[in-house]
Amino acid sequence: MQVSRRRAVMHAAGGVAALAVKGGPPRSVTAQEPGERPQQDASVRVVNPRSRVPVSLIIDDSTCLVNLAHFAIPHFAAVFPDRYQQDWRKLPREIPDAFVREFGEWCRDHGVKGKYSVVPYPALVGWVDREMPGWTKRELTQSLDLVRDFMAVDWDIHPEMVTHTWAINTKTGRPYAERTEAFQENWGFSVGKSADELTDYLAYALRILKNAGLHCEGVTTPGGFGSRVMPALSTATLESCRDVYGVSLSHYFRNLYTDGRSVAPVVENARDLDGDDPQAVVSVVGCTGDWFGGWDGLEIGSADQFITADGEQGRLPEVIARGEPAIMVCHWPGIYCNGMRDGFRIFQTVVERLHARYEHLLWMKPSEIARYEAAKQLTSIHRAGEQITLKAPFATGRFTLELAMPKGAAVRGVSVHVEGTAGTAPVPAGDLREVEGPLALTEGAWCHHGDRVTVCMDLPRGTSTIEVVQEPRGQRHSG
Ligand SMILES: [Zn+2]
Repeated sequence: MQVSRRRAVMHAAGGVAALAVKGGPPRSVTAQEPGERPQQDASVRVVNPRSRVPVSLIIDDSTCLVNLAHFAIPHFAAVFPDRYQQDWRKLPREIPDAFVREFGEWCRDHGVKGKYSVVPYPALVGWVDREMPGWTKRELTQSLDLVRDFMAVDWDIHPEMVTHTWAINTKTGRPYAERTEAFQENWGFSVGKSADELTDYLAYALRILKNAGLHCEGVTTPGGFGSRVMPALSTATLESCRDVYGVSLSHYFRNLYTDGRSVAPVVENARDLDGDDPQAVVSVVGCTGDWFGGWDGLEIGSADQFITADGEQGRLPEVIARGEPAIMVCHWPGIYCNGMRDGFRIFQTVVERLHARYEHLLWMKPSEIARYEAAKQLTSIHRAGEQITLKAPFATGRFTLELAMPKGAAVRGVSVHVEGTAGTAPVPAGDLREVEGPLALTEGAWCHHGDRVTVCMDLPRGTSTIEVVQEPRGQRHSG
């Protein structure tokens, strides 16, 4: 179907497309509370996991069975009739589970990971934990099974508020009667809300997914939700994920930047780092627009915007060169493209080009990227000679540190001792394996390159010690 430039522009202004609104509100209202930070020795630098660059795909607007675009457009058009003139009746009402499986299998074969939204009450059609009118209970159950047992292995599951369209009164479970933008989740509903009010709303959304048997450690905001109450959104994410799932480290996807700004994850509201109950929340940041098939599957983009065929140009090489996580953003209806699958084909091309061009990428879920960043920023690091003591409020896999070494140092070995958290028995000392260079690093390995030693290990919560054993001076070539 044809897309006029006018429509694309107006749509971007409307806020459903992530492109414009996710670009971010004025600075003054985005001032986030970083919370506590520990001391970190200047000669030790936490680098990317396994010295690779994380990549990920964020999928918005997915849910069980329902094609959100078909059902959301008339809701959006009720508020902005000029902006939403798509012939929604021509869009299929379903994105079939067979397509979910096909997409998920292709991604698994190619190592792709990311985030997959499950909108709990998509456009008021039905509740994923109860009934989805238009489909049988059995179809809904099977659809949930597919998400829980198959997709959730490689994909974080997020709610995207409750309906993605009209806001729900959490006291009654009914949508408010008002039909203005102030009662659309995408636009005005979050404006002026306190952290407590947002916590209530986010927890309501999370509870539906919990009832449906899905585990979440984060949320995605639909359209403009939260953009004018960013500090409250951060607190509400932390509190609601704690309330509903008991997780002390959560994350949210609200912002994406396609300009020169950093797209590194932002660790916020870190507290009680030395105590029994450390907490933090991470804002994971996208680095692309939806250049696949748009939010409604009608605006077909191109792989070249992500990465050109020669692997040199496009947004992803820019971000990868900086070493920041390259998190692409798409909408599920724009992967399916109303059965035409243009978005899926673009994504396949992007992945193939990435894998042809780079050998140092690491596909990760946003929760893994968030956890890594929390460990990177919140682990205290002390160095006394060649003994480095780490105190980690959050565990992570593939924790990778670069240690500056004295000139000419000859390293015989590296070992790690783990005390873990208070009350747990120490894990016996372990010698790490030496590998040739940073690209060969895996957990439990180290390498010496230039004036640095890089160590990659499983970082448990609590205290660990790294010991670098050096040859006595002048002994290096004695044999
Ligand atoms: Zn969305």
